[in-house]
Amino acid sequence: MMLGLLLARAGVEVTVLEKHGDFLRDFRGDTIHPSTLELLHELGMLDEFLRLPHQELRRVKIKFDDEEIAGPDFSHLPTRCKFIAMMPQWDFLNFLTARAKRYPSFRLLMNTEATGLIEEGGRVVGVRAKSEQGELNAYADLVVAADGRSSIVRERAGMEVEDFGVPIDVLWFRVAKTADDTEPALGRIRNGKMLVTIDRGDYYQCGSIIRKGAFEEIKRRGLESFREEIVSVAPFLRDSVGAIDDWEKVKLLTVQVNRLRQWYRPGLLFIGDAAHAMSPAGGVGINLAIQDAVAAFNLLAEKLRQGNCETADLRRVQQRREWPARMTQDIQVFIHRQMFGSRSDPERALSIPWAARALLWLLTPVLRRVAARVVGIGFRAEHIRA
Ligand SMILES: Cc1cc2nc3c(=O)[nH]c(=O)nc-3n(C[C@H](O)[C@H](O)[C@H](O)COP(=O)(O)OP(=O)(O)OC[C@H]3O[C@@H](n4cnc5c(N)ncnc54)[C@H](O)[C@@H]3O)c2cc1C
Repeated sequence: MMLGLLLARAGVEVTVLEKHGDFLRDFRGDTIHPSTLELLHELGMLDEFLRLPHQELRRVKIKFDDEEIAGPDFSHLPTRCKFIAMMPQWDFLNFLTARAKRYPSFRLLMNTEATGLIEEGGRVVGVRAKSEQGELNAYADLVVAADGRSSIVRERAGMEVEDFGVPIDVLWFRVAKTADDTEPALGRIRNGKMLVTIDRGDYYQCGSIIRKGAFEEIKRRGLESFREEIVSVAPFLRDSVGAIDDWEKVKLLTVQVNRLRQWYRPGLLFIGDAAHAMSPAGGVGINLAIQDAVAAFNLLAEKLRQGNCETADLRRVQQRREWPARMTQDIQVFIHRQMFGSRSDPERALSIPWAARALLWLLTPVLRRVAARVVGIGFRAEHIRA
């Protein structure tokens, strides 16, 4: 959506296909980073954006047993907004969509799922898609696959994927907020279990970190046992977990960390999770996807306008963005190994090794600022070229 907005703004004809009928899904996280807020400022949209309901996270706190540990501190970042804006991603996407629709060269087809590629002479010249009206072929000078970590386009194009193995999955559910939680923390670790609690006003969007493949076993133990586990990590949720009375209310989110060896083919470019699936560790995947979109815009918009976008131009996008993606994924894999070990044995309880505890306690104010930079801005920040 971000790339669609930028290209339309620059006068390039662009069509965005979205397989769902709306953006109302929980799986993408809620974090709008300082670097993304900076981009909205560059687009002249920041004030309008910040009028939408959101929470401002200036410092991250994690509760480790009963002790509160300070995490990244964004208050020193060299950006206009020194905080992460916590906002359900559907609000962010609806905001971008409304702005993009102001440009006559922007077209959005909802309920339209890309199902395959159209190729001519070894070059991708469009996508096949299905919509409520039936099948359609959409032709384009360039197809950009931004279809996330289960990218169908990546599969159809037969791209080679490097997988880095992740020992965890996330169970995602909501619980009502209680008055008890006077010092909200973003994450809680207790008895070898970890729970993320994202404040969404009147409820928490919760993520329970489980060992990969352990969901079936958790279900077998029953809902009562699951609710007890949540309360054992976050006792203040005692009065509200009763609402989780059906497994339908608990969604399994499969965590992956992987990357394409090559992010392009003639006529086709991959960005975001489709190029490099990110884990939720550090909550940086949305930021990386947006930064890819801006880099692709900067490098390709003029070429697309002139109708001479070559494969070498697509290669430049990978050259620009591969290093930030690799660095970030290396850190995520390191955090997974430190926090949860490298084995994905569903029978083994999650145990947070002493090294991870030491790492968290060693976060000095200087390290907190470094962590804030990595999370809030990332490697090689992009800026929108006029
Ligand atoms: C459990 C979990 C929690 C996370 N939490 C955070 C967080 O808090 N902060 C953060 O920054 N990152 C988080 N991430 C990572 C983040 O979700 C991704 O890195 C980010 O969403 C990638 O953006 P994207 O636009 O590339 O893909 P996506 O956000 O996955 O968007 C892909 C879009 O393409 C659509 N689509 C898919 N297939 C097709 C098709 N065939 N045709 C048409 N449309 C299609 C989808 O409906 C979707 O709208 C989390 C990841 C996980 C697994």
